[in-house]
Amino acid sequence: MTPENIKVLIIGGGPAGFTSAIYASRAGLGPVLYEGMEPGGQLTTTTVIENYPGFKDGVDANELMNAMRDQAKRLGADVRRGSISSIDLSERPFKVTIDDGAAEILAETVIIATGATAKYLGLPSEVKFRGMGVSACATCDGFFYRKKDVAVVGGGDTACEEATYLATLCRKVYMIVRRDVFRASKAMQERVMNTPNIEILWNCSTQEVLGDEYGVTGARILRKSGEVFDIEIDGFFLAIGHHPNSDLFSKWVETDELGYIKTKDGSSRTNVEGVFAAGDVQDPHYRQAINAAASGCRAALDAEKFLLSQA
Ligand code: NDP
Repeated sequence: MTPENIKVLIIGGGPAGFTSAIYASRAGLGPVLYEGMEPGGQLTTTTVIENYPGFKDGVDANELMNAMRDQAKRLGADVRRGSISSIDLSERPFKVTIDDGAAEILAETVIIATGATAKYLGLPSEVKFRGMGVSACATCDGFFYRKKDVAVVGGGDTACEEATYLATLCRKVYMIVRRDVFRASKAMQERVMNTPNIEILWNCSTQEVLGDEYGVTGARILRKSGEVFDIEIDGFFLAIGHHPNSDLFSKWVETDELGYIKTKDGSSRTNVEGVFAAGDVQDPHYRQAINAAASGCRAALDAEKFLLSQA
């Protein structure tokens, strides 16, 4: 099989990947983008997005991603379904195998925009009500639960941050913490402790998310002592961590201890020349579509500059 030679390979079909594709297309770099297993990225696990600028009444997440995809295609990006099976970043051009050998690519630059995956508990009821009260992003979905009761699962910094944010909107926030201590930093713990409408359920795990045809109505909780009880809630927020999708690249690309790709000096440059990272795969903090899109722009501009320097 003769490999295909390209200037820019973009891996990932979320806001970071499509924004990279838009900029790289307009720069005449003929980018090829592989969407992977989750076209549209993490965003498509939510419903309406109200905080992406430019949409007065909010926008359906799938519609937004379809619009980004169509925009990238109209500008000339080659958007493909398919996954990267293996990649060799030891020398340029980078050798990439698609769909277990169905195709091979030699890419002068690679933009990694593979995102991160929120961790879930693995309960069938959690899957059933995903997007109907179950969410892994309080910043994205909290607004829909104004003056209602919700629960946040987890005891880390994210859980504390999300609980305190939700407490500003909601009537009551339960925190379901599996041990009798938080993992979060002292400062975040204090913020939670000083928020009167947060109730912490220590030593507790969720047995089941309860609901009806309209969505979540409660959760069945098991305390370590063996006691089982129900809480009435409208929203069930997971904050038990994310997994950055960097495993394929971590042999070559430097990551932090959690697996997030390290980028240099506020740019998208990684430690491998010609390899750039954008979006949630390199962002453990903000995890918002608008940030992902902005970093996708940076990656395309960095790739363009790099290619010019090699010409
Ligand atoms: P963490 O891994 O730090 O915390 C995960 C939390 O979820 C822990 O309390 C853990 O419990 C709990 N948990 C994990 N699995 C389960 C499960 N199956 N059931 C119930 N509970 C579970 O993840 P975070 O997302 O909170 O933070 C990731 C990183 O980002 C950290 O380094 C954090 O400091 C940083 N961060 C910093 C912020 C800030 O500085 N403002 C804000 C957000 C994140 P247990 O403790 O028992 O393992």
